[in-house]
Amino acid sequence: MPQHRFASFAIALPLYRIFEYRIDDSEPVIAGTRYRLPFGPGTRSGILLEVSDRSEFDAEKIKPVEERLDVEPVLGEHILALAKWMSEYYLQPPGDVIFQCLPAYLRGVRAYQPLRVKRWQLVAPEKGQIDAVIPALERTSPRQFEICQALLSASAGLTALEFKAINANWHPVVKALEAKKIIHWDWDDKPMGPPVAPELPRLSEEQDAIVQAIEPLMRQFAVHLLDGITGSGKTEIYLRLIQNCLAHGQQVIYLVPEIGLTNQLIDRVRARFGECFAISHSGLTEYQRYQAWDRFRRAEASIMLGTRSSLFSQCEHLGMIIIDEEHDHSYRQEDGVRYHARDVAIKRAQMLDIPILLGSATPSLESIANCERDTFFRYRMDHRPTRFDPPPIDLIDVRDSRFDFGCAAKTFERIDAHLQNSGQVLVYLNRRGFAPIVMCHECGWQAQCRNCDARLTLHQSQHALLCHHCGYNQGLPESCPECGHDEIKHYGIGTEQLEQGLNQRYPNTPVLRVDRDVIASREALKSRLEQLQTGEPCILIGTQMIAKGHDYPAITLSVVLDADQALFSASYRASERLTQTLLQVCGRSGRGDRAGEAVVQTRFPEHPLMQALQRRSYREIADELLAERRLLGFPPFARVVIFRSDAQELEQALSRLETIKALLLQSTRYKELASIGPMPALMTRRIGRYRAQLCLLATDHRLLRSVLAEAWPAIQEVPSTPRANWTIDIDAYDL
Ligand code: ADP
Ligand code: ZN
Ligand code: ZN
Repeated sequence: MPQHRFASFAIALPLYRIFEYRIDDSEPVIAGTRYRLPFGPGTRSGILLEVSDRSEFDAEKIKPVEERLDVEPVLGEHILALAKWMSEYYLQPPGDVIFQCLPAYLRGVRAYQPLRVKRWQLVAPEKGQIDAVIPALERTSPRQFEICQALLSASAGLTALEFKAINANWHPVVKALEAKKIIHWDWDDKPMGPPVAPELPRLSEEQDAIVQAIEPLMRQFAVHLLDGITGSGKTEIYLRLIQNCLAHGQQVIYLVPEIGLTNQLIDRVRARFGECFAISHSGLTEYQRYQAWDRFRRAEASIMLGTRSSLFSQCEHLGMIIIDEEHDHSYRQEDGVRYHARDVAIKRAQMLDIPILLGSATPSLESIANCERDTFFRYRMDHRPTRFDPPPIDLIDVRDSRFDFGCAAKTFERIDAHLQNSGQVLVYLNRRGFAPIVMCHECGWQAQCRNCDARLTLHQSQHALLCHHCGYNQGLPESCPECGHDEIKHYGIGTEQLEQGLNQRYPNTPVLRVDRDVIASREALKSRLEQLQTGEPCILIGTQMIAKGHDYPAITLSVVLDADQALFSASYRASERLTQTLLQVCGRSGRGDRAGEAVVQTRFPEHPLMQALQRRSYREIADELLAERRLLGFPPFARVVIFRSDAQELEQALSRLETIKALLLQSTRYKELASIGPMPALMTRRIGRYRAQLCLLATDHRLLRSVLAEAWPAIQEVPSTPRANWTIDIDAYDL
């Protein structure tokens, strides 16, 4: 009889458990390798965690594994330990957490084989007399000739990617040349060469002092916050410290917000370090992201430059983690496994005893509070190394103004002046589409989404009404569906209408619109940004996508059209967010050799926050907001946990949460917490489901954890079904 042991596996399921299978004694047992496992009527991929000689269950009933998928583990010990911490801290299902640390490409049952790249070269001349063959190709097969010409001037040979740049349909051409024995390929195993050594800009005094302060701390855990105004040269500091790591044979993870990964940054990293970096973001295919992950893992790339999930990239010699724009909301994952990449990154750095660098012109209140608690080092940068500091914010009082497509006359005066002065102008309007409200004047009917508690937005170019939450769309009604009146009106301005209006008003100036509707691909974005790069006068309009991350020296005016709504938001985060957005938008201007201006249209110039934006620095505003939060007992001086439920009926969602609340009530100290709900969520109906929430708030972190710990074993058992599911959100972003 074959001897066997019992192995525990993580399976990607939203269940708070791991699964046991039998495994042959002859199997090499390596944690982090994947197996195909029988599961229900089919099979699933599972990641091996631990092996034991005994099982609590009836050994005969435990199924054997089917097959090992990987020769080497896909997840190393360190990432498994990090996932374990995440699962315990965020109370997320362990299997889900572990699988989301893998590139999506490996989450199924595909075997992992380290990727290698082919490299083609011309065969040696003495073997095939290719010197004579190639010129002959020019006439008979120009495309083959073209490839050969490129190979002739590339002594190291070329890869598929490089062929593709020469000829999109390279494959048959290369195959034909192989068949003729003119070229051949080999695996490209050579590690990337040492970083190139370009000429470096001289650091400003501010920058130099910071590099000097951090460098001695590079071999130990510490959180360093670069709190520097927009354009103060934070990126330059990252690059210097990366260089320090590479010189010590270490690798670096460099995270940027989803839309921050512009070609500008990529070009800058390439100019400094050559090709020894990998890129990963949501615009790439699963396979491309897997390639990036694998190159970093094999140390073929020393830098992983990517968005949120790149945090889970593995490597042997991680030396530092960088989080640029650390305040950015896109670092929080809000669906599936909920976590905050900044906080997990800090944990990862601590586990590895390496430094982590956070940078922002508008640091999160969490990070500022951490500096005050002396757990983070804070470095201030108050000047731009270029000629001009960021412009102060100038309020344009539009209480008595007439508007043309959202802009007041005084705003046009500013735009006119800058365009005449050959400047580029950025206009920020965080609302895409043509108009956000469509209604009947006769009876008051408004176009509403069928699936959500939300209005439909008019998208004129598509002749459609669209829901921005669920994607539902319908044609424009000819007449009012309620009363039959034949005049339907729209109100409010979106970027589509703004673009149309500005095009009419400035027929000789290019108007570049950047929002999700026009930027289907990164290529489209790239071509628009290249126009900005030329420095010619133009108007850039767009949503959040244009608010941050870029550095175009010809922009001399930033205009914010509609900021007022956020002044009256119910969210306690609204003031922080508005301040950050406005300062980021305004900080795009004046980066070159001309001073910039920044204007904000408002109907509420007397509002305390508007006044503060005009008069005070971010730090002063942040300190005031922090004082307010402390007084109110809100984060970062309190922790928030939200149980959420969505269901086919509101009653079902509420009742799931009542069940959970009843379990919490049994814990000894529940009464000391503040709890709100269960109650319907802000947008109660979304994508056809009713949503409710139960919110817990405590200024004492340990109290909240102890209540949760006590109730958790019972809460885990509360069923979460498609009819009515529930999830938990630790350190929830909003209430
Ligand atoms: P941040 O990351 O703080 O927004 P960047 O590092 O992008 O700032 O710097 C803003 C601009 O200043 C860039 O165009 C950059 O090339 C330039 N810059 C940064 N450091 C220096 C320096 N020491 N000398 C000259 N120019 C610099
Ligand atoms: Zn009507
Ligand atoms: Zn909808």
